[in-house]
Amino acid sequence: VVYGQNMQQHFDERMIIEKHLRNVIANNELTLHYQPLIDLGKGEIWGFEALLRWNSPVLGFVSPLSFIKIAEDCRLIIPIGEWVLRTACRFMKDLHDKGYKRYSISVNISVVQLMLEDFADGVLSVLEDTGLSPEYLELEITESIFMESFEAISKKLKILRDKGIRIALDDFGTGYSSLSYLKELPITTLKIDKSFIDRIDAPDNMSLASSIVTIGHNMGLRVTAEGVETADQLAFLERTNCDKVQGYYISKPIPEPEVEGWIKKRVATNYKI
Ligand code: C2E
Ligand code: MG
Ligand code: MG
Repeated sequence: VVYGQNMQQHFDERMIIEKHLRNVIANNELTLHYQPLIDLGKGEIWGFEALLRWNSPVLGFVSPLSFIKIAEDCRLIIPIGEWVLRTACRFMKDLHDKGYKRYSISVNISVVQLMLEDFADGVLSVLEDTGLSPEYLELEITESIFMESFEAISKKLKILRDKGIRIALDDFGTGYSSLSYLKELPITTLKIDKSFIDRIDAPDNMSLASSIVTIGHNMGLRVTAEGVETADQLAFLERTNCDKVQGYYISKPIPEPEVEGWIKKRVATNYKI
């Protein structure tokens, strides 16, 4: 490998991001946006996915696609992930207390968090501290866990699932999962990756997204589609009996202070999807 200028630049960028990541929590630089998930059967709001946003006074807005990998490498994802979980559960408990009783919250969990010995205990104590019931929490994990300590991670997830917490496999179809491994994982939901939803519009690929829905249902799982951007995609997913949808066609991720207004507007207009 030739060490070139690009690599140096890449390395510098990482160092800068890492340096500024160290104080994000203490400096209150993180916020969560919440993207609605719709239950297709009922046409109602199922809940929201918490998505991390970092507005750095020095670097400006940094996309989670670039800083989460770095936070994982330097293990800062552990305190950041704990902050996300706590903040998201507290947000949902507040919504319940305001009368929006049935909504759930979905939280992305890094494989680095899952590898922690006390991960399951940590999640349960956040639920206890915030007062949110376990059935309103869904954890989103990715297929990268197949590359790590599969057995140990499965065990922790099983403890959580047995408490009533839902477990979704995010970005499904892009990673390493074989169907036999999938069967062993204590998950409740498959979340079809956006790339399969994009391809719905190409006639030759229509069957792929619907095949995933069928496989999921045959395995006793619920299926969510992410990245739904058009009415045609939505209509197709309705026909395949996909359980939940999420995407810009319904709403972009919403800053926390605007979520309640969004719900009110949708409910007031009796909006059916
Ligand atoms: P993800 O969990 O698969 O989240 C979906 C991403 O797709 C989000 O990007 C969301 O804003 C975007 N999205 C949703 N609907 C649409 C659509 O219709 N069209 C398009 N083009 N995009 C859509 P975001 O917020 O930039 O997050 C990117 C990834 O960063 C997430 O992918 C997730 O893997 C990770 N991430 C975000 N927040 C957290 C977090 O709190 N913890 C961890 N570990 N990872 C997180
Ligand atoms: Mg996700
Ligand atoms: Mg995804």
